[in-house]
Formats: sequence, structure tokens, C-alpha cells
Amino acid sequence: MKTLIQGGYVVGYNGKEHIIFENGCVVYENEFIIFVGFPHDPQCPNYDIYIDATKSLISPGFINLHCIANIDIQPIFLDTKKQIVRSKEWFNSNSNIMTRKEFDISARYSIASIIKGGSTTFCAVTAMGTKKYGNSTYESQSLVDNSIDLGIRGYFANNFQDISYYNLKNRKVFKHDKILGDRAFNKAITFSKSILKNNNDLINTFLFPYTTETCTNDLLKKSYKVSKALDIPLRTHFAQYKSEIEYTYKNYGKSPLERLKDLDILDNNLTLTHCIYLNKNLTIEKISNKYLKYLHDTGTNICHCPVVYLRKGYGLNSFQLLINSGINVGIGTDTVPPDIINEMQTTSLLSKIKDDDYMSGNAREIYNSATLGGAKALNRNDLGRLYKGCRADIVIINISNIRTGLVDDPIRSLVYYSNSKDIKTVIINGKMILDNYKIIGLDERELYNEAQNLWNKLKRKKLLNVKQSLNKNTFKMIRV
Ligand SMILES: [Zn+2]
Repeated sequence: MKTLIQGGYVVGYNGKEHIIFENGCVVYENEFIIFVGFPHDPQCPNYDIYIDATKSLISPGFINLHCIANIDIQPIFLDTKKQIVRSKEWFNSNSNIMTRKEFDISARYSIASIIKGGSTTFCAVTAMGTKKYGNSTYESQSLVDNSIDLGIRGYFANNFQDISYYNLKNRKVFKHDKILGDRAFNKAITFSKSILKNNNDLINTFLFPYTTETCTNDLLKKSYKVSKALDIPLRTHFAQYKSEIEYTYKNYGKSPLERLKDLDILDNNLTLTHCIYLNKNLTIEKISNKYLKYLHDTGTNICHCPVVYLRKGYGLNSFQLLINSGINVGIGTDTVPPDIINEMQTTSLLSKIKDDDYMSGNAREIYNSATLGGAKALNRNDLGRLYKGCRADIVIINISNIRTGLVDDPIRSLVYYSNSKDIKTVIINGKMILDNYKIIGLDERELYNEAQNLWNKLKRKKLLNVKQSLNKNTFKMIRV
């Protein structure tokens, strides 16, 4: 069965870079793109199904390189100094934050929001704030099952670390536990191997030592070796807090990036998410030429998720500097909502501010990062582009409407004026998942209510203990 989508603006690819076909079309058959060009081209195949998307942008699906995939605890931290309780008593207990059924609601809700946010491939993150040395395999498996059910392409991992902490009087007490760390690591390997056996292109895996700060040298080295042996990506949170700099200098006598370089794990299968605090003096200066060279020469990928830390007032310095240095950058939504278009816009604004240059963070480079950049980090040359033989992952975005303004360049309209509310259709692996702004076959209202009820319940648990996260920065709420 062949389907032709008539644009609009079709973002094609010439083997090297994106090119736009105005009033162009794309044709796919089963899971693959078979033609991109103009409908009057004699090469354009005959089709069975026609989708009218004139005036819209027909884009390759976006690759969300680091994406929160659980009911997020971050709403309680916005404009508050609230902390997770993480008591010593909790730390030494065996409790799990959610039941199996609750993990299912959390996974399904998150995946639905990721699809609505424009990502056709997502690399899952489940929060460790509510966990100790790793997550339960059931949580990861629930993400896999719900991804299969909803039809998105995902990269899944079991998190692990061998350093964890509990809070004591506003102080973090760190605990290194080799036995529990190794147990979580081995569980992660078993989980990744089970996915590799699946042989389903929608379901992929990576290895996820959770942060460089909470993994010992030994664990990072082992993780790198196993990721190479299994030929899967390796990803970790990196240089996201000041505390990592202090901790790394104190314990290893060097900066976080020097540490990874000396461990010999900088590599093109490694993605470092964030890469913000790099210097001993705890300021966010421009990434130095020496560090740019480390990243460039090893092919290490950077994942940029600006929204989550801009909410705390800081961010990468800078996106454009990494791009100009030939370093591969992908984009991720490390918070809610997982709106990849909004994340692109924020990338642009942050880059301009950091570089004090309005030419910095241009729409073209950012669009490349959210498509080709993410694909490169995952070692996939069949994603992030509309090109014959590539996967039919397609997003149709209504960029021509009164709210989004008039179109000069469709990519600038997308990055500067649009957001995920403008996503009309999502096709993943040749299957239409979202049509006319709604996920096909899903009762979105019912799922939303289930998730809200779950959140209300979770925040009252001892671990979070939030009856109400309102404070002097919010309005008084009256309930009947
Ligand atoms: Zn994260």
C-alpha cells in the first residue's frame, strides 16, 4: 500500500543535507520512504492513499535524544525550594514509588504526551530522584509494552548508579554501594540484551549509567566496555550541577570532562546530556577550546535540553559554539511538556543570549540537531530525514494559520513561531499514529484523568510529602 502526502513544504534530503520542496510530496510504502520530490515527476510512484497537507510543513519525525518518560515530579519544584524527602528510613527500605499498574499509567501517559509533542523517536529517561541504585525492570518493560501498543519508536534502558544518597537536615549523605550498584548494572545488561533479541525496529536499547557524578570510575569504564561489546549507545547525565565539579575535583583531582577523557570513554557512541558546568570556578563560561577539541576529536555527542535548567536560571554556553566546532548536538526534552518544537525555540533563544549575538542559534542548525543530530548520536542514518529507503517517520505541522503568523521560510516559522499544538499528523514506521491533532484509538481525556489521579496520590506519599506545593510565589487556592 503506497501513500502520497501532498505538501506544503516537504523537507527532503539530498544525501548530505535537508532541502525543501515547495508544493512537493513524499510517498511511503509500508515502513519506508520510497519517493520525495514533486508529484509531476515521472519517477513519482502511483499511490493508493492520498493525504492532503498543502500549506503544511512535512517534516521528518523529530528525535528526542533525552526524554522524561514517567509522571514527572518536577511540578512541585517550580518556583519553590521544595526537596524530595528521601529520608534515611526510606533509603534503607525496599519500597518502590509505584505499583506495576501505576507504572503502566505513568508510561502510557508519558508516551502519549511524547507523540503529541512531535517526537517519533524518543530516548527514555525515568527519574532517579525517587529511586536508589536503579529502576525496576518492570518500569522499563512497561515503557516498551506501551510503546509497542501506541506505535512510537523508542530507546529504552534500565538506569543504574553505584553512588546514591539520602537527605539529612538539608544535607545529602552519599553512599557508595558496589554490590547494589553492580546488581543494578547487571540488571540493565540483562534488560538491554532482552531487547536486542526482539528484532523489532521500534524497540531499541542503550546503556544508561545515570550520571557521571553518581557512578564510580570502575562503573563508567565497565559501562563503556559493555556498550561497545553490545554495539549500543551509551548515555549519561553530565556536568548538570555545580556539585559535580566540586565532587569531581575533590575525589578525582580534575574536571568532569578531564575525568572522562582520562578514563578513555569519550567516543562517538557516547552522548553526554547537558554539559553545562565544566570549570573549577563554578561559573558557566564558554566551553574552552581544549574541551571542544576533546569532544570533537573523539566524536562525542552532546544532548541539549535547555528548558529544564532555564527554569532554574542557567544553561549551556553555547549551542552554536558546539555546532561551529563540528561537534554533534541532539535535542531532548528533559522535562514536561515534551514539546520538541518549544525545545528548539528555547535552544535558539538561549544560544543568542549566551553568545550575545542574534545570528547565534539559527533555525537551520537547530532543526538539523533535532533530526540529523539525534540520528547520528544513535548511529542511525535511516532516521531524521525524508529520503528514499529511510524509515517513514513523518510529522505534518500546520505552520500556516493565524496564530503562527505568515510564512517566509517554513523552518523559521516552525522554530520561532510554532509549538506542538500545531502538529496535525504523526506517522511512525509508515503507520499513522496521530491524526487531526488526536492520537488514534486513545481516549486522551480518560488517560489524562488517570494520570492526574495518580499524581495526586504520589505527591502525598512519604517520599515526596507534598500536601500542597504552593507558597508566597503562587496565588491562594480556594477549594470547596
Ligand atoms: Zn535528565
